Amino acid sequence: MLGKLAKWMRIMGCDVEYFSDIPDKELAERAYTSGRIILTRDTLLIRRRKVRNNHFFIQSDSYKEQLRQAVKHFSIDPYTQILTRCIICNQPLITLDKASIKDKVPAYVYETQDSFETCPSCKRIYWDATHKERMVKQLEEMLRGI
Ligand SMILES: [Zn+2]
Repeated sequence: MLGKLAKWMRIMGCDVEYFSDIPDKELAERAYTSGRIILTRDTLLIRRRKVRNNHFFIQSDSYKEQLRQAVKHFSIDPYTQILTRCIICNQPLITLDKASIKDKVPAYVYETQDSFETCPSCKRIYWDATHKERMVKQLEEMLRGI
């Protein structure tokens, strides 16, 4: 339900765990023991004892509105930590030595890019390129006026 919000929060560098299908009890327990805040639209979930004082209720169906609400509420700086985390795994990215990835990225990318990062979990390789610019533009558009 909040998958796109989770993805965009990770793009901004926020530490976000995401579960699309997890029993309420387990979710409540995980958040409680790890000191995380539950972002949810589930009105039943927020009545649970361990969730009652540990959640942020997301109002809108639209992920853009959800993002605006979260950024405002948590005073997130959308740009300083942008793309520092794996969008898939939520792991902080690690800088790679350029020489070490020569055979792992397309030749054109290797020639034109200087900084490469990897996710320690899925091993996906990230590079700046137009990717970052596009994300910044999209964020600027979505967050305009808040
Ligand atoms: Zn990853």
